[in-house]
Amino acid sequence: MSARILVVDDLEANRRLLEAKLGEQYYEVLTAQRGEEAVQLAKRERPDLILLDVMMPGGIDGYEACRRIKAHPETRHIPVIILTTLDDRESKVRGLQAGAEEFLTKPIDDVQLMARAKSLISLKVVTDELRAREASGRRLGVIEEDVSADQAHRLITGNVLLIDDNDNQIRRIESALGAEHRVSVLGREEDTNPPDFAIVSVTAKSFDGFRVIARMRSGEPTRHLPILAVVDPDDKQRALRALELGAHDIIVRPVDEEELVARARTLLRRKRQMDLLRQRLDQSLELAITDQLTGLYNRRFLEAQLAPMVQRADCGGEPVSVMLIDIDYFKKCNDTYGHDVGDAVLREFAARLATNTRPSDFACRFGGEEFLIIMPRTSGDVACLAADRLRRQICASPFHIRGIPMPLDITASIGVACSSGGGDTPEALVKRADEGLYEAKRGGRNRVVGKTGQRAA
Ligand SMILES: [Mg+2]
Repeated sequence: MSARILVVDDLEANRRLLEAKLGEQYYEVLTAQRGEEAVQLAKRERPDLILLDVMMPGGIDGYEACRRIKAHPETRHIPVIILTTLDDRESKVRGLQAGAEEFLTKPIDDVQLMARAKSLISLKVVTDELRAREASGRRLGVIEEDVSADQAHRLITGNVLLIDDNDNQIRRIESALGAEHRVSVLGREEDTNPPDFAIVSVTAKSFDGFRVIARMRSGEPTRHLPILAVVDPDDKQRALRALELGAHDIIVRPVDEEELVARARTLLRRKRQMDLLRQRLDQSLELAITDQLTGLYNRRFLEAQLAPMVQRADCGGEPVSVMLIDIDYFKKCNDTYGHDVGDAVLREFAARLATNTRPSDFACRFGGEEFLIIMPRTSGDVACLAADRLRRQICASPFHIRGIPMPLDITASIGVACSSGGGDTPEALVKRADEGLYEAKRGGRNRVVGKTGQRAA
């Protein structure tokens, strides 16, 4: 996997060493010498991972740089590994409290570095995908603001599933996490709440922790569940194996309570952020791009789709055509039979549009009894032919509406316009289609008028 890593260290020799190690694994490396520079580069270059030395003379140190990176909405999702020369609890806990995902002690162990980088970058790939989808949701007007990140960064309580067979360790973990979270031990009591993350001991005697991790990773309900593996301090191979199998993080025995609390916060924060993104996308995308009455796309979706197509056509890409369709004498139908019948006519009309357009076309309700169909990669001539075929299919058979004695003969008038460059805009394109529609109405209705030879000025 190719990714960009920002290496921050005040000593050139250290930067060179890391650059060489990471380069061997085909990572692209950026470097910075000072904390302020790191914060700026993170904002400008958006690396996939930051390796951050804590001791840097002059200016801000690594902890402060980390805090600033994690406080900024545009960089807080970038994973940070703190690099320290001190293998002591205090610097570990300080780093995690500053928001770092991980720390490594110098001299840096190659295997640990690669395992951590791989694990954090693969997690970031998922987060990025969700962030990108959320950003396009915002462009569509589906998601108003980036509140998810703020919510995700509040201190939160979670459900922890503990899978362990060592009573002392269980007590220790329960007492460390019990103040903030609900801890349930697998096999002891039934907790009905779904877990937010799991702690799996790979040092257990009575079960195979690796197998548990592998099974959680491949099973659907637990696939996205963050896992913290408990490992022995000197068993590097098992630590690596746990990470390879999909544990998101490891902690060594005997479990340090403050370190555990800090790691739990980080895991939970990520879990919540991902959950929120997924949830918001699922509900909002479906609801916000659909017209509630007809099930077609709505105007907001249409506008978001049309703009880039017109722009591409304008830059020499393929043309895009639109049809603006209006149901003839709809007001009379509404006045005669009432709004319920009117709504039923709109639904049946929409169904005929949806079944008589190509899969690549977008059928939208434009408002009232007006509909717009976007036809990507379609010339004006082809669009006019398609419009006339659609018009004939609409009036080919009468509309059977429940609650009225006679089926209704419904016809439609259609204006067609095509965009193929010349500084065109979506508004101008739709306006030309509207002019065609107006002419079709004036000319006696149930007809198509193409305004496809014109260009915007
Ligand atoms: Mg230093």
